[in-house]
Amino acid sequence: MPIATTNPATGQVLKSYDPMSDEQIDAAIERADLAFRDLRRTTVAQRAQWMNAAADLLDAERDETARLMTTEMGKTYAAAKAEVTKCATTCRFYAANAEQMLDDEPADARAVKATRAVVRYQPIGPVLAVMPWNFPLWQVMRFAAPALMAGNTGLLKHASNVPQTALYLEDVFRRAGFPEGAFTTLLVGSEAVDRILSDPRVRAATLTGSESAGRSIAQIAGREVKKTVLELGGSDPFVVMPSADLDRAAEVATTARCQNNGQSCIAAKRFIVHTDVFDAFAERFTANMSALRVGDPMDENTDVGPLASEKGRDEIHAQVQDAVDNGATVLCGGELPSGDGWYYPPTVVTDLTPQMRMWSEEVFGPVAGLFRVSSYSEAIEVANGTSFGLGSNAWTRDPDEQERFATDLAAGNVFINGMTTSYPELPFGGVKNSGYGRELSALGMREFCNIKTVWVGEGAASAGAGAQSE
Ligand code: NAP
Repeated sequence: MPIATTNPATGQVLKSYDPMSDEQIDAAIERADLAFRDLRRTTVAQRAQWMNAAADLLDAERDETARLMTTEMGKTYAAAKAEVTKCATTCRFYAANAEQMLDDEPADARAVKATRAVVRYQPIGPVLAVMPWNFPLWQVMRFAAPALMAGNTGLLKHASNVPQTALYLEDVFRRAGFPEGAFTTLLVGSEAVDRILSDPRVRAATLTGSESAGRSIAQIAGREVKKTVLELGGSDPFVVMPSADLDRAAEVATTARCQNNGQSCIAAKRFIVHTDVFDAFAERFTANMSALRVGDPMDENTDVGPLASEKGRDEIHAQVQDAVDNGATVLCGGELPSGDGWYYPPTVVTDLTPQMRMWSEEVFGPVAGLFRVSSYSEAIEVANGTSFGLGSNAWTRDPDEQERFATDLAAGNVFINGMTTSYPELPFGGVKNSGYGRELSALGMREFCNIKTVWVGEGAASAGAGAQSE
């Protein structure tokens, strides 16, 4: 893919970049490695000061940054502004909480025949972050804020269609005071990832992106024996049971499917509705989806802007066409619009069967699949009948059912009577082909820490008769 900013609302290429040469990549890794030696010795309080300064810059520059993101990938300006604010909040959250998250954890010294035993969290070095374009600031920040607070350095290979946002991120951390090399943007294509991750100075990688990119990075990391965190695709179920508040469920379903122009890994994608309320839900949901305003993402009245790429739009239209050709029913949308920009109308498709692509594939745009089920167990069977396991939603006012859904849905998160989202306070990640490892919360920060066992005895003799070396 060319490294370029192309406005999805017009299709115009606005700025292009040459990929970095091997020598430039090498020099950037060297700087990241040198910076790590300094950063790991700084105090958490010092890093917190820089992280808070980054938050202040993000707040002060919110509107220009949001405009840049909208221009690069088409999200609405309102959503882009909210994303910048969320990033600033997350920087402040880690600045405030890193000390406690990284504190030594005492263990039962007597049980392990020590005078003192603790678990210590230490940084591991430069971490490569391969990131997607859909939340161009947030996806990076949820890695960068905890990783830098832990004392690691970051090397960002961002998606090729958001190079200016990628460069902005490097600039923010530099201006906030982090040492040169602490956070570096590498303007490279995906073919450079093998070379970067194979470099012995790069200690680990995190990828947010497609399943195929995840497989490729995991293969390289496996060969090199390096830790990875993979946040991959999803086809989240949104189950609606008879006791649900249908008006609220249909309203949230619409936002959950179409926020970010339908391009979110944790967007609800499969709406699994009990037959007792199927018609009533379908009517409300279809009406809401049809009422969304599609148009210029800079216009404050727009709900859904263009998709980020022509290829992405062609892909979702092909998935809808495949369903229609095989007998599915389109309740709204489904027509490819003419004119400039990569727009696609909010679409609801029902009467899906396992032979159709929409049954099993992730649909990365404002297109909902609507499934009818006749019992709790059938709802679980359809919800879990996918290779993905990222997020999940269930709508029910029955407390027993709520508990059962929380246990039975095979996903990295379950949101009951609400929309799946991410918070710096809560771990985020998936199971099955949606990936492994966690971002956010203390768990996310510790993914890129050496979890070091520290055992202190009184002397060689005190190790005791039962002690063994391994
Ligand atoms: P993508 O094609 O996988 O791209 C993501 C990143 O990976 C980009 O930087 C891309 O670089 C790079 N990349 C692609 N193929 C690669 C390979 N073989 N080796 C190394 N790097 C590679 O994904 P996308 O289409 O941009 O994003 C949509 C996907 O991301 C969806 O599946 C979505 O669900 C998933 N996603 C997951 C999460 C989550 O938290 N689980 C969040 C957001 C998105 P180039 O741009 O240079 O190709």
